[in-house]
Amino acid sequence: ADLAMYQAKEAGRNTVRFFDPAMQAAVDSRSALEDRLRRAIKRESFVLHYQVQVDREARPTGVEALIRWHDPDQGLIPPNDFIPLAEETGLIVEIGRWALAAACAQLARWQRDPGTAGLILAVNVSAKQFRQEDFVATVRGALEDWGADPTRLKLELTESLLLHEVEATIAKMDALRQLGVRFSLDDFGTGYSSLTYLKRLPLDQLKIDRSFVLDILTDANDAAIARAVIALGRSLGLTVIAEGVETVAQWDLLRREGCDQAQGFLFSRPLPADELGTHLAQLDQ
Ligand code: C2E
Ligand code: MG
Ligand code: MG
Repeated sequence: ADLAMYQAKEAGRNTVRFFDPAMQAAVDSRSALEDRLRRAIKRESFVLHYQVQVDREARPTGVEALIRWHDPDQGLIPPNDFIPLAEETGLIVEIGRWALAAACAQLARWQRDPGTAGLILAVNVSAKQFRQEDFVATVRGALEDWGADPTRLKLELTESLLLHEVEATIAKMDALRQLGVRFSLDDFGTGYSSLTYLKRLPLDQLKIDRSFVLDILTDANDAAIARAVIALGRSLGLTVIAEGVETVAQWDLLRREGCDQAQGFLFSRPLPADELGTHLAQLDQ
């Protein structure tokens, strides 16, 4: 009865929902997933893969760290299958802390190798994680623990950060910028960006969401949005990177419009750290 009532509330209240065994099944499987996720956090059963970001001449400038859950039975589970639940349950805070530490450890390793020392490492940060009181201290701690260079770290934030506590957000970003950390706004255009706040955030980069890049060649609206984001970034003094670039034609169009950087299967899939080294060496030739 409770489940049926929740469904009715979710559907906007003042309506009728009958209990369906599928509702129970959904609740059970969600709670089983949550249990498994808690265990995975305890055991640190995650890995980071790295996807190359390139400049206008297709030279690698950095990589984005993308988390995968390494489950003993199911193999590698993509983030879209567990990050939403992690966000809902608050487990994202611990997962994000692990990802940040693992990324800083990797950054420090790369710094010691001339072939990778110049890379900028982008790490995704969820709004919930960013809002933690000790977020600035956590980032500083992770950098110091591994001896990673803060000026090589870029944090990817999402527009949902702009919804609440904008003053506190700016203060935290400023504190991290003092260390040399940079910021990129991920999935730009899909959230609720207030342009008033956007101009006040100490950002370095806007990231054009993959959904606009996907049909950029065939959908005039997507092309117009991409062009507008590039122009906006320009006029705010930010670099613009396009994500999900899969074809030369997409990249040519974006470049013609003035896009500074790109990331996507055209250049590289997300790869484990050891394969990334080999891949970069090949790109270099
Ligand atoms: P995102 O940050 O927007 O990352 C880009 C996603 O697009 C990645 O998916 C990447 O594999 C995928 N992608 C890149 N190039 C292409 C392309 O050319 N074509 C297509 N179709 N896809 C491409 P992935 O790795 O599955 O990650 C999904 C999302 O999970 C990320 O989206 C990010 O929001 C989240 N995520 C990943 N790692 C973390 C993390 O450590 N912390 C947090 N909070 N979120 C994370
Ligand atoms: Mg990202
Ligand atoms: Mg994105």
